[in-house]
Amino acid sequence: MPKVRKKPCRICRRWFQPDARVGERQRACRKPECHLYQPFHPAVLRLIRTVCEAAHQHGKWVGVCGEMAADPLAVALFLGLGVDELSMDPRFIPTIKFAIRQTRRSEAVALTEELLALNNAPQIVSRLEPWSQQL
Ligand SMILES: [Zn+2]
Repeated sequence: MPKVRKKPCRICRRWFQPDARVGERQRACRKPECHLYQPFHPAVLRLIRTVCEAAHQHGKWVGVCGEMAADPLAVALFLGLGVDELSMDPRFIPTIKFAIRQTRRSEAVALTEELLALNNAPQIVSRLEPWSQQL
């Protein structure tokens, strides 16, 4: 049986060990609770955008803290949505800092507009993966 490396689930983004029989083709973890945590669900992205717009209208900044803030896949998205601050465990800071420095805000805004038109989390993750691999 070939050894298959762990990778992030394209729906819930938790790291999982793909089934060796399916290998690299397996994109989601298949855990029953997977659908309950979808950080890249279109409704979550619209909610973050709404919060950023409302906060900025009132002169307030928006910070994101937690697992999603430390996910390199989300960097362009947060820049495009207008998030002002990301908070994460210190071990993730170099990777996220590098990703931010490699991303132009104008390109992030254009990408985010494209993402907000998509219908589900796997589509959004599929679009972000080639973007983050350019880093
Ligand atoms: Zn999952």
